[in-house]
Amino acid sequence: MRIVVDLTRCQSYGQCVFAAPSVFRFHGEEALEYDYTPDDRFREQVRWAAAACPVHAIMLDYLDEQPESDSHQESVGGKA
Ligand code: SF4
Repeated sequence: MRIVVDLTRCQSYGQCVFAAPSVFRFHGEEALEYDYTPDDRFREQVRWAAAACPVHAIMLDYLDEQPESDSHQESVGGKA
């Protein structure tokens, strides 16, 4: 997983810091710092952080992850 934060959008609300304190932190008063490639164990926290950001400044990239298996599918809706 990789993270990109659009710092031109970030308003330093700090929701991401509360949601994933191991990944996001403030440096000084308002400068947001974050781990660009957080450990996979923080994946759920990072998702929460992205969802919590009021200005949608956090973008997640899963391109470097391999699917668990070919048969793995997200379930969306009911069966046909
Ligand atoms: S929640 Fe969004 S606006 Fe707030 S500090 Fe994090 S990235 Fe910035």
